Amino acid sequence: MPDIGKMVSGFRVFKSTTFPEQQDIIRHFIDQGQKPTTMFISCVDLRIPPAMLFATNPGELYVVNNIGGLVPKYNSTGVHGITAAIEYAVTGLEVENIVVLGHAKCNSIKMMMSDEFDKTDGLSESMRTWLSIASEARDAVKAEMSESSIEEQQAACESESLVISLRNLMTYPYIAQRMEEDKLNIFGWHFNIEEGEIMAFDPDTGFFEPIS
Ligand SMILES: [Zn+2]
Repeated sequence: MPDIGKMVSGFRVFKSTTFPEQQDIIRHFIDQGQKPTTMFISCVDLRIPPAMLFATNPGELYVVNNIGGLVPKYNSTGVHGITAAIEYAVTGLEVENIVVLGHAKCNSIKMMMSDEFDKTDGLSESMRTWLSIASEARDAVKAEMSESSIEEQQAACESESLVISLRNLMTYPYIAQRMEEDKLNIFGWHFNIEEGEIMAFDPDTGFFEPIS
C-alpha cells in the first residue's frame, strides 16, 4: 500500500520528467481555459483513470468520480456534487459527450448486491441512500438471475446500473434539450479490467458491444 512518502517521491518524478515534457501542452490548456469536450462519470475504484485509458492530454477530459459511477434522477433530494458537475459540464462548458463509465469487479456494486444492503445495521444510511439510485438493477438481477453465480449477478448488476444512470441523465431537461438539438451525445461504457475490453451499451438493441 503506497504511503504518503511514495506520493511525494512520485510528484518529484512528475516534476522532473512529465511536467517539462508536457509543458507546452499544459501551457496551451491554461491559455485557452477549461474546454473539455467529453465528461466522464466514473467510479472511485475504477483503478485506471480515464485519461490513462483513453490516452488523452491533460485537461481534455472532465472527470467526475463517485461511488459506483451513478447518476441520480434530476431534482433528487439531498446534496449531490454530481448534479452540479453535470449542470456545469452541459450548460457551462457545453461538452459534446457524456460517458458513464462502469467497470468490472466494482466494489460499489458489490456492496449494493451484498446482504449488508438489506440489513438495518449493515450499510450506513448515506451509503444505502446513494446506492439506492440503482436499486432497480439490484432487484431485477436478484429476481431474474437467482440461479446464476454471484460473479454473474454482479456483472449483470454493473451493466444494469449503468443503463439506469443513462436513463436518469435523460431526466435532466438541459441534457434532453441539447440531445434533441444534436449537440450532446451520451454513452454507457463498461470497462473490464481483466480483459482490457470496453463494452458499449447500444440503446437500439439493449445489448453491450465491444467499442473496438
Ligand atoms: Zn466501482
